[in-house]
Amino acid sequence: ATRNPHQPEFLQAVREIAEDVIPYIEKNAPEFIDRKLLERMVEPERTISFRVVWQDDQNNIQVNRGYRVQMNSSLGPYKGGLRFSPTVNLSILKFLAFEQTFKNSLTGLPLGSGKGGADFDPKGKSDNEIMRFCQSFMTELYRHIGSETDVPAGDIGVGEREIGYLFGQYKRLQNNFTGVLTGKGPTWAGSFIRPEATGFGLLYFVERMLYEVEDSLKGKTVAVSGAGNVAYYAALKATSLGAKVVTISNSTGTIYDENGFTAEKLDYVNSLKRNLQEYTKRYASEFHAGKKPWQFPCDIALPCATQNELDEEDAKQLIGNGCFCIAEGANMPCTEEAVKEILKANLLFAPGKAANAGGVAVSGLEMSQNRIGQQWPAEKVDSKLKKIMHDIHDTCSHYGKNKNGRINYLKGANIGGFVKVATAMRAQGLV
Ligand code: NDP
Repeated sequence: ATRNPHQPEFLQAVREIAEDVIPYIEKNAPEFIDRKLLERMVEPERTISFRVVWQDDQNNIQVNRGYRVQMNSSLGPYKGGLRFSPTVNLSILKFLAFEQTFKNSLTGLPLGSGKGGADFDPKGKSDNEIMRFCQSFMTELYRHIGSETDVPAGDIGVGEREIGYLFGQYKRLQNNFTGVLTGKGPTWAGSFIRPEATGFGLLYFVERMLYEVEDSLKGKTVAVSGAGNVAYYAALKATSLGAKVVTISNSTGTIYDENGFTAEKLDYVNSLKRNLQEYTKRYASEFHAGKKPWQFPCDIALPCATQNELDEEDAKQLIGNGCFCIAEGANMPCTEEAVKEILKANLLFAPGKAANAGGVAVSGLEMSQNRIGQQWPAEKVDSKLKKIMHDIHDTCSHYGKNKNGRINYLKGANIGGFVKVATAMRAQGLV
């Protein structure tokens, strides 16, 4: 903590891992302690911070700060998303990069970890402004990344459009068409199922968790938060698997539709471009301004918006209303206190580093396709995604099964993710 002052999110992510990993290595793998592997893992291999200057539509000069945290390269090239949001700072990016180390390890693919972005707010910006910002951002970032060095993807505020502008600028600077970013469009070397991957993967994981306790998604009431990439595809897949999704939200409030969102309704939400209250004009529903989805009764809660969006009070309310399963689509959406409540009440709990790994897994598959110059059909990618999510479930079960037969997915993900990275770091010497 003294080494990383003013980084509460990063310290929170480290504590969450250390509480499971330290007792495990003390008991089972003392060589990891002697080699200070956890101490090494919390220190990024490299942190880059840079100036991004661009001109807005009124010709004003704007200055933002860009970052790339290259966290760990013991399993493969640095890999992790770029986030554009005014809330971006080093604490947020280091927490995300640290989580990414464990998540990428769990996928079983050869992926190191990283995260980056800028304190740029894309909301309300014109398409040309977004393009100019992306071009300026890449004009500095390009010298630090490469298809075998560091392969960024999207995250909050960075979707296919932004990846397109970033990729175009990289290609122009390097005169080289290479798989340096993932999340590309399907006609320009992207992978099918990448947009769907995080949300679909989340539901494959939940399906597998429920199967373990001889249950299924059929007829379950599900609360989803967020209205972005992860939330949309999570809600769509949950619906197609027979569940009823009753909430969708954003930072302005929550839509509650007790009849459930159909695919058509979800498309309509997408077309509203953040004006969620409009939904109530077309469909019987309620819009709760400034409210989160956790007050509404549900069996399963899927927080898919942002970090620390579900706190202790929310957890108590969910539990009180009969919720029995919480799976994190976003990264660290549950606060530390909320996680304690959830585990105390013996709910099924899937941490983001396991449950939302589908996005980076398909990014890994996009890298494989780029290397061999091929594009696999959607069905093939989807079935690989499903297999990876089921394998992650089994790793969590291997390291997290308690004596009573119940699986502590948080513990399993933390230890399972750690062991592979620690083993590789140990083999590679003092790096
Ligand atoms: P998007 O930018 O597509 O969507 C984010 C959504 O969350 C928006 O609806 C946004 O609403 C909402 N949101 C953001 N902040 C808040 C807040 N404080 N309160 C309520 N709602 C909020 O991002 P993604 O869907 O890609 O990412 C969502 C989460 O999933 C993030 O934690 C991300 O790190 C994680 N994730 C994403 C992956 C991916 O493949 N995209 C992979 C793995 C994890 P508004 O528009 O009002 O801000």
